[in-house]
Parts: sequence; C-alpha cells; structure tokens
Amino acid sequence: MAKQLNYDVVIVGLGPAGSSLAYQLRKSGLKVAGIDLVDLDGIWGKPCGDAIGEHHFHENNMPIPSGEAVANRVEGIDLYSPSEEVRLRVKGTGFMINRNAYGRMLLSEAEKSGVDLYLKTYVSHPILEAGKLVGVKARSNGEEIEFRAKVVVDATGSSGVLRRRLPKEWPVNEVLKPVDMNVAYRRIVKLGEEIEDPNYIRIYVNQEIAPGGYWWLFPKSEYVANIGLGVQGGRGYPHPKKIYDEILMKRKDVGSQQEVYADAGAAVPTRRPANTLVWDNFLGIGDNGFTVNPIHGGGMGYAMNAAFHAAKAIIEAFEANDFTRYGPLWKANLGYMKGIGAKQASLDIFRIYLQELSNDEIEWGLKNGIMKAEDAYATSVTGELKADFSVLDKVKLLIKLLGRPSMLQELVTVSRYMKKAKELYLNYPESPDELPVWVEKVEALYKEYKGKLGVTW
Ligand SMILES: Cc1cc2nc3c(=O)[nH]c(=O)nc-3n(C[C@H](O)[C@H](O)[C@H](O)COP(=O)(O)OP(=O)(O)OC[C@H]3O[C@@H](n4cnc5c(N)ncnc54)[C@H](O)[C@@H]3O)c2cc1C
Repeated sequence: MAKQLNYDVVIVGLGPAGSSLAYQLRKSGLKVAGIDLVDLDGIWGKPCGDAIGEHHFHENNMPIPSGEAVANRVEGIDLYSPSEEVRLRVKGTGFMINRNAYGRMLLSEAEKSGVDLYLKTYVSHPILEAGKLVGVKARSNGEEIEFRAKVVVDATGSSGVLRRRLPKEWPVNEVLKPVDMNVAYRRIVKLGEEIEDPNYIRIYVNQEIAPGGYWWLFPKSEYVANIGLGVQGGRGYPHPKKIYDEILMKRKDVGSQQEVYADAGAAVPTRRPANTLVWDNFLGIGDNGFTVNPIHGGGMGYAMNAAFHAAKAIIEAFEANDFTRYGPLWKANLGYMKGIGAKQASLDIFRIYLQELSNDEIEWGLKNGIMKAEDAYATSVTGELKADFSVLDKVKLLIKLLGRPSMLQELVTVSRYMKKAKELYLNYPESPDELPVWVEKVEALYKEYKGKLGVTW
C-alpha cells in the first residue's frame, strides 16, 4: 500500500517555476508540498546560459539575487552580425546568476514558512479518479507515495511529466513540435585569454554556426564564461555539442579554453505560450507551459511570471473553494496571456521570420540599421517591431529597403502579423468554453502567416 499524504497544493518540479511558486505561496496559509527528483545540490540544475534581466525580479515580487547567487553583474548585451563586423550594444542591467544558490535560497525561505519539501522524490504520473485530477504518484527511497491535493502544479519543465499524461481531450495536454524548440548546449569554461568587457553578455547570430538560433558567450568573470548555442529542432541540423566541438572550438576565444567546469544540453521551447496553463485542479507553469521568450530563449524570468500569476489564482481558488477551470484558477491564464504571453506570441511571429533569414540578409539588415539597439530592446520588451514597416514613415529606412524589395514586403507582413498575434492573446478567452474557438483563430493566423512567408515547417 502506498503511503498517502494530503496537501492543498502539490508542486512537482522545483526549478525556476516551481520554486518561485513555492516561495510566492509560502505565506498563504495553504498546506503546500514541493517535490523534485534532485536533491538540494541539484536544484535549478538544468543547463542554462544563467543570464537574467533585473526587471524580472522587480516585476514578479521576487528577491533580488545577492551574495553567492550573483556570479557576475550584467550591464547589457552585445549582439554580433554573422561577419561580426556589426555590433549592436543593447544596454540593460541584469545578472549572471548562480542558479543553484538562488534556487536554494528560495526553497529555504519557503521551507521556513512551512512549505514541505520532498527531494530525491520521483513523480511518475497524475492520479485521476472518476476523471478528476486528485494528486500524483511518486517514489522516494524505494517507497511509493501518493500526494493528494486540490491543486496539482506541473513545473517539470519541457518534459511535461504530468501534462503529457493527462487525458488527451484536456487542452493542457498539448504537444510541443520539435520545430518549436531549440536544442541547446552549454559549457562553463575557464578561458586562456582575458574577456573584454566582462559585464556585457555576447550573442552571435550566425545561421551557419547556430541555424535557427544563436551562439553565446556570457562572461562570469574576466576568464570564466558560459558558452553555448541553440539550434532549431526538427530540421535535421547537427547536435549543438558537435557544432561546439567542430566549429566554436576553432575560434581563438572559445578555443583558448583551459578547463571545463560543467557541460550539458537540453531542449528549450521557443514558441508562443501553451494554449492554456490551466484545467480542472491543474496548472502547468514555466517551460512546461512554453513560457520561454521565443527570440532569445530566456525562460527563468517568465517562469517566475507564470508562478506569480499562478500563486494569485491559487489563493483566490481556495478563498472561493472552487478548483475547476471555471473558477479563479483561470485567472492565471488571463494574467499571463494578456501580459507576457501577448508579447511572446508576437515575438514568436518574428522568430519564425528570423529563422528563415540567410546570413547575408541578417548581415545586410544589421549593417543598414534596419533594427537599431534601442529598437531591438523595445521589440523584446513590447513584442512589437519598433520600426513601423506598415506605415513606412521612416524615409531613410524605406530608401534602403527599396534595394531589397522582397525584404521590405516581408517586413510589412511580419509587422502586421506580430500585431495580430498580440491582439489575439490580449483577447484571451475570459471563459474556458471560448477556448476552442480562440485556438482555431490562433492556428488559422499562424497557417496564413507561414503561407505568406512560404514557411513549410
Ligand atoms: C542551454 C540552455 C541555455 C539557457 N539559457 C538561458 C538563459 O541564459 N537565461 C534564461 O532565463 N533562460 C535560459 N534557458 C532557459 C531556462 O533554463 C529555462 O527556461 C528554465 O530553467 C525553466 O524553468 P522551469 O522551472 O520551467 O523548468 P526546469 O528548470 O527544467 O525545472 C524542472 C524541474 O522539474 C524537476 N523534475 C522533472 N521531472 C521530474 C519528475 N518526474 N519528478 C520530480 N521532479 C521532476 C527537475 O529535476 C527540475 O528541477 C536556457 C536553457 C538551456 C537548455
């Protein structure tokens, strides 16, 4: 007989999404369990570039990293063109964080306030009784445990341990297509040559090195860096580890590596948010709900944002004693989709266009200032192309683009569909009953857009 434990809320997965939720719920008075298959040394252990903008902590009411949680301060991003002749400097403060230290701090705060942690505990599947989600099955130290709760949260990352095992007809059980992911790989290394400007993280856009993604060099100090790359999945591109070894290691900077402190890879969802984060007694947050930024693949801050909205909705659900999709849980969707989600849907439209560009086109666009540093920043923050290609009031830009008429036409299309995608997410259904019609509209928009660009995947 399995041991049975009863909770109000069970959070499965204590990475950025799950531990942020445990932290946000710590003073709610609810009985909360947080479960992860790793122990404290492995917390937030997914391979990552470790870079995060400071604004995420302010926006989501999360503690600002300090002490050992900060590996380096970031003052901005240098974006390099394929030839590396053009460098776009986008200013903005942030951190290279020590993920494990930050995650441990959140869990320690949560635990102090009464959240129960079950580490080295593997969750195998959801428990459904008479079609209702009532908990999860887990194993710890050879012992079977059933965690029962009114609200079950899947924060297991892109593997979606629970989401994928829910009934097929539940819209949360959505399949992530390989083309909507990046396969990413990174190493943390000590370099033999000093890194210039170690407070600027570097992004290199080069379709021949990192097709459908980019490669990065994020300094942690003058000599230590997190270096990696992501490539679009499902297109038959080589594995990023192979590219790292065969191409990046030939460079003077990367190739000067003297010591490797860590190396690993993982998949990152790079599409618009999942159609819904919520169903009866269920929430899926973080990578599990595809909350990553489709352009730069940053997911920690958005996992925190999904946790922020989830916490508010869960507290309200307990006040109302209603844990169905028709109750306050749905507000987690409304909060996330109408805020960050709308911007990310819009950026997803842009991502599809960028993934189709050649090195020559990217080089030309960056060299000719089609997008400037401040525009790049505004686009990533608002999810809108700052340069308004549909109005074309920028005469100089127009003259430049006249030399590339097909690009001009495409940019007009991209800008138009970015707005439409954002609009759809801003009008996210107020009730789950309206979800199917809304999903149809979103899918039709993507189909139409891809058709216009001639994208076949
Ligand atoms: C190479 C790479 C570079 C990246 N760079 C950046 C970056 O620079 N900045 C940024 O913001 N984002 C970056 N990301 C994305 C970021 O890492 C993720 O968005 C973020 O970690 C997602 O957090 P999460 O909590 O949703 O999922 P995860 O971090 O995947 O955490 C999921 C947790 O669930 C646990 N779990 C899984 N299965 C089970 C189970 N069966 N039972 C119990 N527990 C389980 C895991 O042990 C883990 O602790 C990068 C990703 C990759 C792969």
